[in-house]
Amino acid sequence: MKDGPVEQARHPVGGVDYPRTLEEFDAWFSTEEGCARYLERLRWPRGFCCPRCGGTTVWRTARRLMHCGGCGRQTSLIAGTLFEGTRKPLRTWFQAMWYVTSQKFGMSALGLKRVLGLGSYRTAWTWMHKLRRAMVRPGRDLLSGRVEVDESYVGGEDEGADGRHTEKKALVVIAIEVHDPKGFGRVRLRQIADASGPSLTPFVQDVVAPGSTVVTDGWPGYGRLEKLGYSHERRILWGSGQAAHVLLPGPHRIASLLKRWLLGTHQGAVSREHLDYYLDEYTFRFNRRTSQAPGLLFHRLVEQAVRTDPVPFARIAQGTGRGVRRGEDGIEGA
Ligand SMILES: [Zn+2]
Repeated sequence: MKDGPVEQARHPVGGVDYPRTLEEFDAWFSTEEGCARYLERLRWPRGFCCPRCGGTTVWRTARRLMHCGGCGRQTSLIAGTLFEGTRKPLRTWFQAMWYVTSQKFGMSALGLKRVLGLGSYRTAWTWMHKLRRAMVRPGRDLLSGRVEVDESYVGGEDEGADGRHTEKKALVVIAIEVHDPKGFGRVRLRQIADASGPSLTPFVQDVVAPGSTVVTDGWPGYGRLEKLGYSHERRILWGSGQAAHVLLPGPHRIASLLKRWLLGTHQGAVSREHLDYYLDEYTFRFNRRTSQAPGLLFHRLVEQAVRTDPVPFARIAQGTGRGVRRGEDGIEGA
């Protein structure tokens, strides 16, 4: 058996671990077998080994099953992954993942339906939402260093003159690493019910490493950060001559990019129940924005998809299903 941990730690290589161009993509994934082999490699980086007998001699059946040569047990390639229960060819899924990752601003469900020739909008919409579930890796690293945090309203075109309370728009809190002297690092986003301390504080605790410097405005909702082990820097707006984006340029920039993306790629048609998943997609894209290779983004998405638990359609439709567990019933066969 190969040395697993070393294998996994290795940086993926273009042309070996992921396709660098559309031509390479077409050559690798023109058949179901090519797609299945790729999934298998990402799911079992150390090589498949039978869960019953530990055997490594295996036949791959046309029904996406791994048939153990030692004991005859059959293990599904896609059960327990994001692709569980799908009746569509893996090839179509691979094309979807390629399109979604090779377009700078991603794709709407309608766009996906068109390019893949999918029969129904519902299928395209469901696929996009399934893929978004794979865009957030469980147990992600915490932000660290210097982190700016601020809230912004999303979902309308006006900023809202009065400040923190609006009924129609969703409130999103943004945390972003800022580099010295300039430049941004990674971002984290979350929809919150309100701008109170009980909404803001857990977000900071969930996404920012203790000991980091958290930069906010003077809002009292951030009042407990110092007690919780952060170095808290407050920037207070003095008078009306100073614009908010001067105080916290990071969150301000992200808010405007996010709004533009929601209005552009998704025509603003994002409901509050589903907003969290769009935030995940935005985060996935932003945090990998410096990657020059679209194929690497594709590789990461497939890699995370085989580690993401299946999500039944009902839960997607309701806008729930984050942190899904193994063993859910009722997988939709989209
Ligand atoms: Zn076996």
